[in-house]
Amino acid sequence: MQQHIRKVAIIGTGLVGSSAAYSILNQGICDELIMIDINKERAIGESLDLSHCIDFTNSRTKVHAGTYQDLGDVDIVVITAGPPPKPGQTRLDTLGIGAKIMEDMIPQIMASGFNGIFLIASNPVDIITYLVWKISGLPRNRVIGTGTSLDSSRLKTYLSEILDVDPRSIYGYTMGEHGDSQFAAWSHVSIGGKPLLQILDERKGEFGHIDLDQIVEDVKKVGFEILKRKGTTYYGIGNAIAFITKSIFNDDHRIIALSCVLDGEYGESELCTGVPAIITREGIKEIIELRLTVEEQEKFRKSTAVLRDYLASLGYEEKILATV
Ligand code: NAD
Repeated sequence: MQQHIRKVAIIGTGLVGSSAAYSILNQGICDELIMIDINKERAIGESLDLSHCIDFTNSRTKVHAGTYQDLGDVDIVVITAGPPPKPGQTRLDTLGIGAKIMEDMIPQIMASGFNGIFLIASNPVDIITYLVWKISGLPRNRVIGTGTSLDSSRLKTYLSEILDVDPRSIYGYTMGEHGDSQFAAWSHVSIGGKPLLQILDERKGEFGHIDLDQIVEDVKKVGFEILKRKGTTYYGIGNAIAFITKSIFNDDHRIIALSCVLDGEYGESELCTGVPAIITREGIKEIIELRLTVEEQEKFRKSTAVLRDYLASLGYEEKILATV
């Protein structure tokens, strides 16, 4: 019987990469998992440790360390390489080093014959996703950033605590940069199909004082609150990576807030940012264009302006032309 072997590679086997690997293994999402890191010993150590989980899971996944040459027939390459921001830094402050890593790494991956889907979590994720798209030359539907998937989940977690409802029954997104300029599209947040703003209007006072702006601020800052206490964040993003990977293999057609290459959607092009999108076996099938309020549109525009400024500061066009 011929069967497709579902292969995933994780590049950058630090805290985020190894958490994603652990989550992928525990859910039996793929058949083979390749761990790659510039620190080869770390990749070997993580693969050995992870391979000892298998006896306690429900499916057999082969885990091993590898190199870029092994990526020719891999379905999904997850990129989690690069340093997390230090206390006091924003995600955008790690851009220079992240960009250099991609300029070196992506041509090596493409030289292996890789023709699958890139899933990027390295920060600043919107800009790194754009660079990977440009350098790899892959179609835009196959270069995806984790975007505001984690932020949207954080938003739902806060709302679930206030409204006492399961976060999985809350629909809605934060959009724009996975960073300080993101915003919540409140006009499209619903609980069991009922708009949040309508619920709050009908049941004034019932949930105490709810400050929607403060919730968004908390979503933006919570990563740094975690960082202050334990150095960095990895479980949430690890599960987000596993969830997106599973949605791709299962051809779920699930809608997730991801960093997508825009080509006219929301009036923007030549840029990646967090937008809701339908994810399938082929990658991004469709970007959902929500009808945003005028205020939300303005926030979206401000967020993309921040990303454009950073891309311009990188001199990305010249650099990319030099690498391809
Ligand atoms: P970490 O320092 O624990 O791990 C990073 C790993 O990358 C290290 O093992 C390092 O050796 C490896 N690496 C560095 N350069 C490399 C190269 N050229 N090739 C291969 N491997 C290389 O950091 P972490 O906490 O795992 O964070 C990793 C990335 O994930 C950071 O960019 C961080 O900001 C990002 N992150 C993203 C989100 C999100 O929501 N998108 C959330 C948390 C962290």
